[in-house]
Amino acid sequence: MIIQKTTNSKVGQFDPNNFEFGDHFIDHMLICEYENGAWGEAKIVPYGALPFSPANMAFNYGQACFEGMKAYKDAEGEIFLFRPEKNYARINKSATRLAMPEVPEEVFINGLKALMDIDRDWIPHGEDKALYIRPLIFATEEALKARVANKYMFAIVAAPSKSYYAAPVAVKISDYYSRAASGGVGFAKAAGNYAASFYPTQLAIEEGYDQIIWTDDSTHEYFEESGTMNVMVRINDEIFTPPTSDKILDGVTRDSFINLAKKNGITVHETPVAVKKVIEAIKDGSLKEIWGVGTAVVTTQFRMVGYKGEQYELPVLSKEESFALTLKEELLGIQANRMEDPFGWRQKVEKGFAQQFEK
Ligand SMILES: *Cc1c(COP(=O)(O)O)cnc(C)c1O
Repeated sequence: MIIQKTTNSKVGQFDPNNFEFGDHFIDHMLICEYENGAWGEAKIVPYGALPFSPANMAFNYGQACFEGMKAYKDAEGEIFLFRPEKNYARINKSATRLAMPEVPEEVFINGLKALMDIDRDWIPHGEDKALYIRPLIFATEEALKARVANKYMFAIVAAPSKSYYAAPVAVKISDYYSRAASGGVGFAKAAGNYAASFYPTQLAIEEGYDQIIWTDDSTHEYFEESGTMNVMVRINDEIFTPPTSDKILDGVTRDSFINLAKKNGITVHETPVAVKKVIEAIKDGSLKEIWGVGTAVVTTQFRMVGYKGEQYELPVLSKEESFALTLKEELLGIQANRMEDPFGWRQKVEKGFAQQFEK
């Protein structure tokens, strides 16, 4: 690994007690280039723009995928990653589906830890604060040839974030548009999945909703995901969530919620969730809550669902009654080292970790 530190750190201009997500990037980024069938040496360099031609194949044919994860700082200033091996495995699953090369583990994991160590002063401490980390792989070959590219870049950039309390949202259950199709790329964190979801989401927003609940592409009768989050439904005191498949992204938050719920004695069914069953449960009062789960905001509660022109109000439970909020609290507690970690999910980034790579 090559480490080239900035002489112009901006961390002094960053106030961890008063910032907006997206206004700041940490001082450094990691880049690693793939060429002639092999990955080169990873480099940690000052954060900044890179020059690419409009003929770059990623822009034209969409070979691009990414990850979303966070680093947390505890009260003693120690830094933790959360289940980074899951994100490592998933970016390679995504890359393989998009015919891109897998990133070596030492580049992803050691590169990530070295970057976190070097920019540890950027990681905010405090309730719901974290560093949002974006690893990504994209084609960099300059050619207008509709084929697999032969040059790629793996990069990691990061920005301080806070998962402020998100007000419960109104969601539209899709009866026409689909996020993913059988045999497609729905399970991959492909950049193009996001592009394809923006237009239907805009239409739903124009109708007064905040988000779409995506349903299966063939019948639109089964829940798949909600916006860019996995979806969970509570009927009486049991949780129902669609099983992962080639159309459903295998979320780290989803898996963590399932494990935490089971540990708390809550029954979780990973089973197809029929829209009809949910609407019947709303009508008979057995439906207690519906929420989305993902790294960025951890949990979004739903206050209303719309389906085929009908709108159904949902109960909004208090912090004490809500599974969505109690499981969120517990997850945040584990992530930020405020609670015991019975699953061994946290990984500490040792102070000075990057020194072994500095030549
Ligand atoms: C990233 C993502 C999720 C959530 O995954 P986490 O690992 O929990 O952040 C869910 N659905 C889609 C479509 C996603 O892209």
